[in-house]
Amino acid sequence: MPLEGGHLALDFVNTIGGLRDQPPSQEDELFASYDDLVAWCVRLGVISDADGGRLSRAAARDEKAAGRALRRARELRELIYATFRPIADGREPPAALLAELRDVDRAALAEAHLAPADHGSGSHARAMRWSWPPPKELTDPLRPIAHAAVELLTNGPLEHVKICGNCRWLFLDQSRNHSRRWCSMAECGTQMKQRRFVERRRRERSAPR
Ligand SMILES: [Zn+2]
Repeated sequence: MPLEGGHLALDFVNTIGGLRDQPPSQEDELFASYDDLVAWCVRLGVISDADGGRLSRAAARDEKAAGRALRRARELRELIYATFRPIADGREPPAALLAELRDVDRAALAEAHLAPADHGSGSHARAMRWSWPPPKELTDPLRPIAHAAVELLTNGPLEHVKICGNCRWLFLDQSRNHSRRWCSMAECGTQMKQRRFVERRRRERSAPR
C-alpha cells in the first residue's frame, strides 16, 4: 500500500490510480470492497484496530449498508480529487465543490470534540485537535478524512500540492527545494526516465549520420 501523498487527504485520493490525463483506472482501485476501506483507515491511523474489526463485522452482517458506505467513500474521494486537482494544475477549485466539501466537513464536525493533540512539558496541551468518538456507522471513518481535506485547504501549503508528472496521483511536495516531480521514483520517476531514454536512443538511431 504505497503512501506518497504526504497528507491524509491526498493519500486518500491516491487510493485509485491511472494516467495523468485519463480517467481513473479501475485496475488501480484499492477500495474494491468495504473491508479494503477499513484496512486503509486502520493503516493510516484514522481508526483503531479494534474499531476496524467491529466495522468489518458489522459490514459482513449488512452487505447492502457496506455497499452504500463504499460508494460514499468513493464519492468523497472524487470530491476531494476534483477539488485538489485544479489546485495542483495551478487553477482555482470550483466554488460548488468547495461548498460541497464544507457541508461534508460541517456534518463531520458536528460529531467531533476538541481534545489535546499532544502534551508539552507541563500538563497543558500545546495544541488541540478535532477528535471523533469510536465509529458506529460504517461511514464514520470518512469524517476525519473530509476534515483533513478542509484543513489542507485552510492551512495549506496549497502551493506545494502537486500532481505526478506521469500519473494522476497528488502529493504534498515536502522536498527541500520543492522540486519533486513524481509520486514516487520507483513507480513513475523511473518509468518516465526509462521512456525518455528509449526515445532518445531511437532518435539518435534514426538521425542521419
Ligand atoms: Zn505517479
